Amino acid sequence: MIINGRTKIIGILGYPVEHSLSPQMHNAAFKYLNLDYCYVPFPVKPEELKSAIDGIRSLNISGANITIPHKETVIPLLDEISEEVKFIGAVNTIKNEGGILKGYNTDGLGFIKSLVQKKIQISNKKVLILGAGGAARAIGFYLCKEAKAVYIYNRNLERAEQLSKHLYPFKQNVFAVKKDFLNDNVSSIDIIVNTTPLGLKPGDPLPMSVSLINNKQIVCDLIYKDTPFLQKALATGCKTINGLGMLLWQGALAFEIWTGLQPPLSIMKRALLKKKK
Ligand code: NAP
Repeated sequence: MIINGRTKIIGILGYPVEHSLSPQMHNAAFKYLNLDYCYVPFPVKPEELKSAIDGIRSLNISGANITIPHKETVIPLLDEISEEVKFIGAVNTIKNEGGILKGYNTDGLGFIKSLVQKKIQISNKKVLILGAGGAARAIGFYLCKEAKAVYIYNRNLERAEQLSKHLYPFKQNVFAVKKDFLNDNVSSIDIIVNTTPLGLKPGDPLPMSVSLINNKQIVCDLIYKDTPFLQKALATGCKTINGLGMLLWQGALAFEIWTGLQPPLSIMKRALLKKKK
């Protein structure tokens, strides 16, 4: 990669950020399409976020991804937000248009695209979301538009209830459920999605008991790797999907926002798999 006076910079702002797979993925795409762009990680502490966002304007950085812990706190620092951000309340992508910073969220649609690519239909399906945080909101927004019914289970029931109320205008068949629901009704669910971070660390408990799962179900995890939850679900005969496809697609959608070009998906996927090893 040759940096010159016209090279456009895209950053990822998070803390910590060194584990991110996005620089590898986007730089491979820029290189493949011969685009004069460079993607750089920026570790930004929460107390530095405002000055970092001002820096995007003053340094004429073309765009950015936003990751944990800034996805929500960045919103008041931006000039405009997209329709999906108004609902989701979190930003993962920024575009700098002549000093005007607009925030987008490509996580939810990225998840849906990752299912579509695996030829998984959502319409007329019953979906159980485990967790009610930012990622659950992002995918819930899109799932609600297509699924037959959406059930949300969270260790903090109040948060699941808040999310179901929030989703109600888009789908009346959205319910916050208690543990009893998992025990008694989970066999009627078509797609189960873990959005909690359980499975990231060795020794984490499972987000729900796998003995409740049957082999007609599709089990997804937003974590990039095959978590113990997915491995155990696979062993029962289920189809399983990890979060790598979502990571790829949220990146592809962000790439399109920054460049206006079709993302080279196979190149981006190969870069992700290479980095993961
Ligand atoms: P978040 O806003 O912090 O929400 C986390 C959710 O998980 C909350 O509902 C929380 O419950 C629950 N939770 C956390 N620890 C738990 C535990 N020990 N036991 C039971 N429930 C627990 O996080 P997020 O932004 O939604 O991210 C969630 C996951 O999605 C992360 O693993 C992240 O890496 C992944 N993700 C992947 C992609 C991708 O591209 N593949 C994109 C975005 C996020 P409470 O409400 O009770 O605290």
